[in-house]
Amino acid sequence: AEFDTLDIVVLGVILLGTIAYFTKGTLWGITKDPYANAFANANGVKAGRSRNILEKMDETGKNCVIFYGSQTGTAEDYASRLAKEGKSRFGLETMVADLEEYDFDNLDAMPSDKIVMFILATYGEGEPTDNAVEFYEFITGEDVSFSEGSEPALQNLNYVAFGLGNNTYEHYNSMVRNVDKALQKLGANRIGEAGEGDDGAGTMEEDFLAWKDPMWAALAEKMGLEEREAVYEPTFGIVDRENLTVDSPEVYLGEPNKMHLEGTAKGPFNSHNPYIAPIAESRELFSAKDRNCIHMDVDISGSNLSYQTGDHIAIWPTNSGDEVDRFLDIVGLKEKRNNVISVKALEPTAKVPFPTPTTYDAIVRYHLEICAPVSRQFVATLAAFAPNDEAKAEMARLGSDKDYFHSKTGPHFYNIARLLDTVGKGEKWTNIPFSAFIEGLNKLQPRYYSISSSSLVQPKKISITAVIESQAIPGRQDPFRGVATNYLFALKQKQNGDPNPSPFGKTYALNGPRNKFDGIHVPVHVRHSNFKLPSDPAKPVIMVGPGTGVAPFRGFIQERARQAQNGATVGRTILFFGCRKRSEDFLYESEWEEYKKALGDSLEIVTAFSRESSKKVYVQHRLKERSKEIGELLSQKAYFYVCGDAAHMAREVNTVLAQIIAESRGVSETKGEEIVKNMRAANQYQEDVW
Ligand code: FAD
Repeated sequence: AEFDTLDIVVLGVILLGTIAYFTKGTLWGITKDPYANAFANANGVKAGRSRNILEKMDETGKNCVIFYGSQTGTAEDYASRLAKEGKSRFGLETMVADLEEYDFDNLDAMPSDKIVMFILATYGEGEPTDNAVEFYEFITGEDVSFSEGSEPALQNLNYVAFGLGNNTYEHYNSMVRNVDKALQKLGANRIGEAGEGDDGAGTMEEDFLAWKDPMWAALAEKMGLEEREAVYEPTFGIVDRENLTVDSPEVYLGEPNKMHLEGTAKGPFNSHNPYIAPIAESRELFSAKDRNCIHMDVDISGSNLSYQTGDHIAIWPTNSGDEVDRFLDIVGLKEKRNNVISVKALEPTAKVPFPTPTTYDAIVRYHLEICAPVSRQFVATLAAFAPNDEAKAEMARLGSDKDYFHSKTGPHFYNIARLLDTVGKGEKWTNIPFSAFIEGLNKLQPRYYSISSSSLVQPKKISITAVIESQAIPGRQDPFRGVATNYLFALKQKQNGDPNPSPFGKTYALNGPRNKFDGIHVPVHVRHSNFKLPSDPAKPVIMVGPGTGVAPFRGFIQERARQAQNGATVGRTILFFGCRKRSEDFLYESEWEEYKKALGDSLEIVTAFSRESSKKVYVQHRLKERSKEIGELLSQKAYFYVCGDAAHMAREVNTVLAQIIAESRGVSETKGEEIVKNMRAANQYQEDVW
């Protein structure tokens, strides 16, 4: 059946192409490539598209919409997986929808035979993801009002909800909790539990899988759905474009959108449209042998990008050559890597996540997260395409048996290619429809970095401080190497004169598609944050930033030093910094001396070196030693900042701070915790953690 659908699409597309050719496109408004999925609107503005979800569902014959609020792509991925499963198991007519692209004032007109799903990530300090801000404000608003005006407003709305959160943050899964509460208050009917996935405990994927089965059962019962045997149906059709080659100007070789393809890239630069920024300077910061950390200055003067001290910069990475090769090889596409293909959504609401026509190589290198550990659900999907019965049985077992999956794959962190290689014992997996990878793997995500410079001092040059990620894997010689940081490391080596850098044996297409990144460029955009210095420089600030958590504080201190030079009165500025050893990984040690010249004694760097004495000393110990002074500064309305490791450090600092407050004000620890909460609410306590 799969080929029939494809054939029809191919024929359809060819027919359309022929008509377009003979009519020179005038009839259909097609001017260039009839297959192209264009990505024309690089800014994410979908011109002329209806924001009316009911209309959209009616037009496309859908009875189930899965809205996602996603920042790093996981929620979006889960939404797609639910859409796929709803269709294949229950025959639901599903569609996935970006919350940003619809209005919600007609949600009360959603008929009760339709189902609405919300997959909602919580970001940072309990905030909605960027694409969910408007929806969140609307649905939780004091005076939310709907077009129909019935009472209770959402009595016909049947919904399910799942949240993605991290229990190490104060506002755990607040997005799904608050939206669920708001929907309940408006009279909507939730089906199943409102699920919560916990990234902090590392159980996100299993939490999702454990939530969705009872949810489907409850939904099937409520809506009278009948389960059928799930058959895989591709969401995307792959069309070979034999008349095109990598030299054809319309073929995307990794360019993120049409403007980049045509060499007319212009702003606004944002999460849909990166700026290809020159790297002005880069160097290593550690002198440790087995660990690396880099400082990089990215030049944004040729763009209209701007930033403020405390913002984040996003780096758009490319996968390393060895991983691209491993993937293409195991799925039998190595020979065809430079063949040109178009990818067509086989159903109207699906979106091809990258521009085409393109090549397999470009898709795998620039657009798919091929290095991440493989998900259990994806393994289950791929069982049907195994090269032999043994591999098929093993994939089916891995996919369905949680404990087996974790015992087999857990310690190895297999990415997709490594898993296929292991399960298939080296045999190639040539039967997997390429669509399955587009559906089953995440889009390659930009990585965020806390900008480590001050916009007052260097408005057109953004500094990054990044530690090069590596993770030892038991039983394997080579550790896992982080995608973005090793790419940055290679760029750093090239910028410092190595024409063909290969850090840890890894190589990258550093010149970018068609050499467009040559001369050492990196694609970036800027994300504004709420992590900000007090507007009055006279206010004291206390900063806690061990390791790379120091990044934004280098920016803060740079800024206050400049303010002092400019004649402002600058308040007390204390940084608590921790690392292993002064001689190894004390970041920016010599720079602090420079800033001291401007700030004098108001600047103090309090250090905690964990490996210099038999007893491990961390920043929270140093904080405690300074209880009295910190208590006093806080009563003078000092701002308190924490940056870095969310899992342990930030939480412990939080606890210590509550104790300090309790002590200095003679109140209970519970009261101290409450005061910290109030400080958060008033922005007097700010976190930038990851
Ligand atoms: P990835 O490839 O994304 O891997 C990340 C980790 O996941 C690995 O270390 C490993 O533990 C695990 N992992 C992934 N795949 C596998 C696998 N197949 N096998 C085993 N393990 C695997 N970082 C900084 O250095 N400096 C900063 O200033 C900074 N600021 C940040 C600010 C924000 C707001 C956020 C959200 C993050 C920030 N980070 C910062 C972290 C940064 O965004 C990246 O997460 C980090 O650099 C790792 O990226 P990577 O692509 O190299 O690693």
